[in-house]
Amino acid sequence: MLTPICRSCRARRGDVVLDLGKQPASDFFPPVGDPGPDPVYPLRMWLCAECGLAQLAEDPTVPEEPRGVEPAALVAQAKDAISRVMASGLVRADAGMVEYGSPHGGSWLPLLAEHGLRPVDQQAELVVDSFGLMHAADQHEAVAERARRLADNGVLLLQYHSLSTIVRNGQWNALRHGHYAYYSTEVLTRMLSVAGLTPRTAWRFDLYGGTVMLAAGRGGEPDSEVRALLAEEEGSGVGDPRIVRTLQETAESSINALRGWLQRQRGTGRRVFGYGAASRAVALLAAAGIDNTMLLGVADAAQTKRGRRMPGTTIPVISPADLVRAQPDAVLLFVPDLLDEVRTALPTLAGRWVVAEPTPTEEQMTRRIVPPARLEQG
Ligand SMILES: [Zn+2]
Repeated sequence: MLTPICRSCRARRGDVVLDLGKQPASDFFPPVGDPGPDPVYPLRMWLCAECGLAQLAEDPTVPEEPRGVEPAALVAQAKDAISRVMASGLVRADAGMVEYGSPHGGSWLPLLAEHGLRPVDQQAELVVDSFGLMHAADQHEAVAERARRLADNGVLLLQYHSLSTIVRNGQWNALRHGHYAYYSTEVLTRMLSVAGLTPRTAWRFDLYGGTVMLAAGRGGEPDSEVRALLAEEEGSGVGDPRIVRTLQETAESSINALRGWLQRQRGTGRRVFGYGAASRAVALLAAAGIDNTMLLGVADAAQTKRGRRMPGTTIPVISPADLVRAQPDAVLLFVPDLLDEVRTALPTLAGRWVVAEPTPTEEQMTRRIVPPARLEQG
């Protein structure tokens, strides 16, 4: 294969730290009647030896991006993040704003408009990017573009699923086609400085096990929050290819654990379904060679995925109502952030949820069975 060229600093020196072989495109859900085989493409994470950016080594897929239903946890987090920003006084309530959104949806503009901010076409005092930047194939240009849209006294808010979280929690299936970059705060700070920006403060959120939002502007200094984050991430070794490469072992062990657990369930006649036809479930199921005899269906609230199947597998996507009717013995939840929401929405499935990510060992998977939810009134 060709040597990758860094999407940020253009260096050609680096290491492949995670290789998932050939995988179907994570956002192309073929119709159930389509027998396949689905096209597959290499899926590898490469760590630039010059600037340290973790990135997709290559991505020949063309994104389809069927929009999913935005989890309530994501909406709640956006509200929380925005109220923290407004309380900080960094952004004026009547500021003009521009958004670089995620193709998966979840715009912050309506929420910010409630605080009095207004959208503008040109330079803005607030440029918002929540999980948008990682979707840009050319990372250098994407950061430069955001900087150009920022007024001199403006603030750029960048929210990302931290690489340090991914490595610490073994979230190897965060790697997917269409997500070109995986940021540590240190690397992102370097990328911003090339565009003349400095992170001034940071907020942390529990979303996806650890999400960071940086506020950057022209001039100024990183505050104690940013410095603490940088120090913690440095201590976690997130810039060291040997540490990031532990994702490979986690991937292999969790793929084996999933397959072993599902085969055992099938062997004892237990009927297992999944919940959350998210892109992160795609690599997990396809890499583990799971079929519709082991996992009978994956429920998802998104209408757009109905009548389709999980890429690279024979597993159909079904509705949450069909899932309840099927009376499953266990339901693998592929999106842990959905747990509270699905327990409330589907009370008859209490006691059957198994959180499927991350799943380092089969034993841990067994221990992750969630006890029946006690439903709150009202
Ligand atoms: Zn680089």
